[in-house]
Amino acid sequence: MILCDCHNHSWFSFDGRGSIDEMCAGAWAAGVSIFALTEHYEFEDMDDATPYYLARHERRLKEMAEARHRWADRLELLCGIEMGQAHTHPEEARALANCGAFDVVIGSLHGIRPKRDIYRDFTYATLDECDMVYQQYFDEAMELIETGDIDVFGHFDYPLRMMRTCVPEASMLRWKDRMLPFLKALADSGIALEINTSGARRWQGRPGGEQWILEAYRSYGGKRIAVGSDAHRPADVGTGIEMAYRQLLSGGFDSVTVFRQRRPEQISIR
Ligand SMILES: [Zn+2]
Ligand SMILES: [Zn+2]
Repeated sequence: MILCDCHNHSWFSFDGRGSIDEMCAGAWAAGVSIFALTEHYEFEDMDDATPYYLARHERRLKEMAEARHRWADRLELLCGIEMGQAHTHPEEARALANCGAFDVVIGSLHGIRPKRDIYRDFTYATLDECDMVYQQYFDEAMELIETGDIDVFGHFDYPLRMMRTCVPEASMLRWKDRMLPFLKALADSGIALEINTSGARRWQGRPGGEQWILEAYRSYGGKRIAVGSDAHRPADVGTGIEMAYRQLLSGGFDSVTVFRQRRPEQISIR
């Protein structure tokens, strides 16, 4: 079985805690053989993530090329970017996505308009607030799918990470009405649905690949699933990937999608 982990951050992200080599060593130790580093680049930047990245972009590309070579007999290292809120600056985002440096472009929402950080700018004290965040989240997600030149939609369960105290269980079912059109739009667009496995080391206790989500996406003709641990330090690389594979197999998927130079390829998970 080939373990793919296609969403990770090294210290070339403002919040990453490992060098490229240390992250590769983490991947190698976890048995990951296709490994993407997808550093943060934010539009509507709430963390100064973008100036941090831009100051290091050239150095990063150089170190990635060296590491790709150095690790070649142990794992395949892919160079990616995680763009936050790309729909707010679609032209700039398109130019970045197509600059030629990236194997994979993840589009994520870490904030919703007007420039509100999903982690920090809400209390999630009431279900009403959770519902309000997810309503707007999916509105903006639809916009991102329409306008964004992205390969993968990252962690649809990002707000859920913060909702431990107010939602009764770790499930997206509460927002099924909003989620189904989102899954259909993703399937129609060819953008891959990411099963982010960081839920396995958070309160949710498992990756986000609920059966009803996988079945709905498949029923709409969705074929592309990306998996990523969202590791920000070496020890977290690869966590939850096998669990996600089991979810996928029981949801009727026998492969995951990996992007190389932004071209999708299916990798068997059997
Ligand atoms: Zn991060
Ligand atoms: Zn993210």
